[in-house]
Formats: sequence, C-alpha cells, structure tokens
Amino acid sequence: MKEDAQVTTWVWNPILRQYLVNAPHRMSRREGSSLCPFCADISEGRVTADMQAWLHPNDFPPLLAPMGEAYIVVYSRDHERIFSQLTVGEVTLITKLWRDLYCDLSSRYPAVMIFENSGEAIGQTQCHPHGQAYGVSVIPSTLERELDTVVQEYIAGRGCLFCRVRLEIEAEYQVAANKTWQAFLPPYARYPYETHLYPRRHVADLAAMDDEELRDLAALLLHVVHGYNMLFGGTMEPMPYMLGLHQIADERFHFHIEILAVGRAPGKLKYAASSESLWGLWTNDSSPLQKAQELRQAIIKSEKE
Ligand SMILES: [Zn+2]
Ligand SMILES: [Zn+2]
Ligand SMILES: [Zn+2]
Repeated sequence: MKEDAQVTTWVWNPILRQYLVNAPHRMSRREGSSLCPFCADISEGRVTADMQAWLHPNDFPPLLAPMGEAYIVVYSRDHERIFSQLTVGEVTLITKLWRDLYCDLSSRYPAVMIFENSGEAIGQTQCHPHGQAYGVSVIPSTLERELDTVVQEYIAGRGCLFCRVRLEIEAEYQVAANKTWQAFLPPYARYPYETHLYPRRHVADLAAMDDEELRDLAALLLHVVHGYNMLFGGTMEPMPYMLGLHQIADERFHFHIEILAVGRAPGKLKYAASSESLWGLWTNDSSPLQKAQELRQAIIKSEKE
C-alpha cells in the first residue's frame, strides 16, 4: 500500500492485550513548515473575526471514522503566542470548546482524548498554539485501567477513589487550588514536576461541568503552567509538557487532568527510557515533597508578577 493514502487500522497486540493505531500516511506530514494551516483558516475566511479558538480537522489524521476522528483545537488567532501567554478569559473559551467537542465526540465514541503536546522536545510540529482531540472507538489502556480501579472500588463499597485521594492528599503535596479545583503533585508522580488537577465536585466528564468550574479550571491551568515557567529562575521556560484530560461517560468516573512536565532541571529532560518504556517501571529521581514545594512557591511567585 502507498504510504500517502489515508488509511488507518487497529492492530491488536495479543501479548499486551491492547490496540495500536497504524497510520502510515503520517510519515509525510509537514513539520515546522512556514505555511501555517491555522493562520490559513483566518486568511482564507474559514473562521469568522469573532472566533478566538476553533477546531481544525487534523490534516494527517491518526484515526479515521469509524475507528475514530482527530481534530486540532486552535487556541488563539495569534500565531506567536503560546498557551501560557493566553489570558484566563481566552483559556476559558478553550475549555468551553473542549466541552462542546467532548459532548459531540462522546455521542459517537466510547473514549474522547483531549490533549496537548507542548514544546519541540515533545514532538510538537506546528508552533501556532494548539492542542488536539481524538474520538476513539476503543478505550485506551490507561483509561481502561483507571475505570477498572473505579469500578472495583465501587463494588467494594468504598465509593470514588479519586474523591478520597483529593480529600486525603496532604497539604504539602498541593501546589495550587481555587473554589472548584485542586492541583497537586502526587507522591507517585512519574515526572519530577508532574501535576494532577481534580475538580472538587464528583463529575465524570466535561459534559457535567458548569461555566464557573470551567473558568476556575482555566485559571488553575494557567497558574500551574506559569509556575513551571518560573522554576529555576525562569531558565526552563517554556517548560515542555504533555497535558491530558482523563474522562469517560460513566458516572462512577472522576474527571481529572494530568500534566506530565518533561523538564527536570535547566536544559535537562526526563525521558521515558528502557525501564519505563520496556517494563512500565517508572523511576522518579526526585523528592515529590520537595518538588511540590518548589512548584507551589514558583506558582505564588508567578502570580505576583
Ligand atoms: Zn499560525
Ligand atoms: Zn469522585
Ligand atoms: Zn488519569
């Protein structure tokens, strides 16, 4: 088969009992080209003057219907700004777009992945600020594992484990919080500055979130990312990270966001190397308690500036 034909297939790994996506046409996707496809949405009139954030079909989709669908979530009209430079109001519009997109995709697919690969170190190929979203016809293994945990806890009569984790996490691990959300660096962090954001209310997914919660989420996301950029006197800015929204349309599930910040020290990245990639055994060469304290202080400092 020619590599430029757009065809995607699920391939079952019988050993690990999980699917992977095969999408050979993506090998020829443009990387860092000077013609920005998202700026072209504006110049060619595909988005109206009042639209700050919008969806762009993924031109090199890793998933095609009925396997799934793939979209780009364009964050801003301004090619040069990155997520951390957006205002709370602008990020709130993005969270509302996420909610609309989730409602749409979850009507057709059992799993919706909304995420951002931020920074060249993560393989971001277009600099215009954007994230991505997939509707997926199978449940990815990490989400399946989280759902399995949730179901087992309910069956055992212990209620929501996420709610318990949120309530019982010691204050030393918390890095920022507001009225409806809490952010913490868990003792089981895989990356030194990995941060988890939980809504205080038990909600399964974005569909159940109200506008106030989305605005608080926008503010908290910005606090955390600003804090990252303030670490080590700003020498890690912009901190490369992977950000993912974990949610599923099952009332027992607890919506949350995980941010895997890949920087561990100025000029140094944490790689998922042999131990992590070949065995799934993660090593964290730092003290989560100390990193939580550093990040909390960096967030406070960034709020003052
Ligand atoms: Zn652009
Ligand atoms: Zn819960
Ligand atoms: Zn999760």
